[in-house]
Amino acid sequence: MNTLLKTFPPILNQPLKMLIDGQWVSSQSGATLSVINPSNGQVIAQESLGGQVDVDLAVQAARRALDSGPWQKMRPSERTRLMLKLADTIEQNGDELAMLETLNTGKPLKMARAFDISMAAECLRYNAGWATKLHGETRNVSLPGEWHAFTLREPVGVVGLIVPWNVPLAMAVSKIAPAIAAGCTVVLKPAELTPLTALRLGELIQEVGFPAGVINMVTGLGHEAGQAIVSHPGIDKISFTGSTAVGKSILAAASGNLKRVALELGGKSPVFIFADADLERAMDAAARGIFGNTGQVCAAGSRLFVHKKVADRVIEGIAQRARQLKVASGLSPDAEMGPVISERQRERVLEYIASGREDGAEIVTGGEAIQGEGFFVQPTVIVNTHPRMKIVQEEIFGPVLSTQIFDDESLEQLAERGNDSIYGLSSSIWTRDLRTAHQMIRRLKAGNVRVNAAAALDFAMPFGGYKQSGWGRENGREGVEAYTELKSVAIDLN
Ligand code: NAP
Ligand code: MG
Repeated sequence: MNTLLKTFPPILNQPLKMLIDGQWVSSQSGATLSVINPSNGQVIAQESLGGQVDVDLAVQAARRALDSGPWQKMRPSERTRLMLKLADTIEQNGDELAMLETLNTGKPLKMARAFDISMAAECLRYNAGWATKLHGETRNVSLPGEWHAFTLREPVGVVGLIVPWNVPLAMAVSKIAPAIAAGCTVVLKPAELTPLTALRLGELIQEVGFPAGVINMVTGLGHEAGQAIVSHPGIDKISFTGSTAVGKSILAAASGNLKRVALELGGKSPVFIFADADLERAMDAAARGIFGNTGQVCAAGSRLFVHKKVADRVIEGIAQRARQLKVASGLSPDAEMGPVISERQRERVLEYIASGREDGAEIVTGGEAIQGEGFFVQPTVIVNTHPRMKIVQEEIFGPVLSTQIFDDESLEQLAERGNDSIYGLSSSIWTRDLRTAHQMIRRLKAGNVRVNAAAALDFAMPFGGYKQSGWGRENGREGVEAYTELKSVAIDLN
């Protein structure tokens, strides 16, 4: 057991170990990296930096667990039971997991508890049900004579799971859960910045009794451990969430053995507020949609389009909400927004804001770093933007909202402005007019559309992107089936 995480709070001298083949092990190289609390910049732990050799051991373990041993013989209903038990165990350890998440990401503790931890448990419960419900079909073929033809759904194999730092536990679980429901075995690489909750999850996975090698965890750097996973010939599929740039590099690295690749990438999601909308609700949701999790959300509503008639009121209303937000360390009981994840990420966000200023945009509120310890940035609202500005085109992944105004242009033209992006992940439409809503739904090039709601996530609903926001869908039946291969079988009965 990685007993270090049991030492609480996790201010550690010895590096955290990695989970390979049911054992807690150090990296072969012995190299380590400091894990930082972004609320104060202090070191809270040391993680092992896994490399090629460690990934190789993890892949071999996952392969053995897939091809032989208890996992392979386990009935689907037993997989369901294990997954439900893990969900309960996550909840029983919810306070501790939330505290680890807050220490490692800076997010408000009450949000970590209410959102991240619950989401992890619910994701397991949703996917647990699929283990017993995946199936093939008989097919009515027209071959001469008499045939029995059917399809079989089989696990795709050993899956490499690579996740980012914005919702570390929930993100790890959202990839592990459908993969194991489908009968796969996995090698997970958490983000280098946020390994704590994934490793604690690894301990809980062992506690509930998953067989050795089914779920392996290698911590480390993207260009080392991550690269070793995506190029490994023993891995059958990669599921990645992160930046579009890394997503593209993964496609190239995965081509060696033509791995299946699923990509959940960035976004620059539009929010449309029409003049007839319930403006108070729309403003609340728009503010939550860009400042929630400090804007570090792939589906964050980062481009606001608001009708001219209500633009002043709406922009001021959102700016007011931004000014009132209590920005503080996640451990502070009244914190509503925490820091960004790292010094580097803060620089990135500030560079974007500076570029907006240079391009002639105007900051209504925010726009500055918050001085003192930790990596805090003010929630920021920007007006006078132009569609070609970098702050309008590129994913900032911080609490920065750019706004544009529309008038009585056609819905085609408005949707075109919304679609003017390399991304197509999410979008929200605020109106009381059904025709406006439906016409916009059809015209928007986005994987997810919400009407009179911010980007809401439910595990029954497929989630994924059009265009450069990704490949494939997570959640729902589609999300589990993505971890299967389909075998077509025909038996000649003549
Ligand atoms: P990232 O580099 O794409 O990180 C995502 C994951 O991929 C991490 O585990 C990362 O490891 C790993 N990785 C990096 N390079 C890799 C490679 N060559 N091969 C395999 N795996 C690799 O994202 P980031 O650097 O953390 O953040 C940069 C920007 O990406 C953000 O500002 C944001 O715009 C975007 N982003 C989007 C999402 C999203 O949900 N769509 C999430 C996070 C970030 P390391 O931890 O070592 O980098
Ligand atoms: Mg990176």
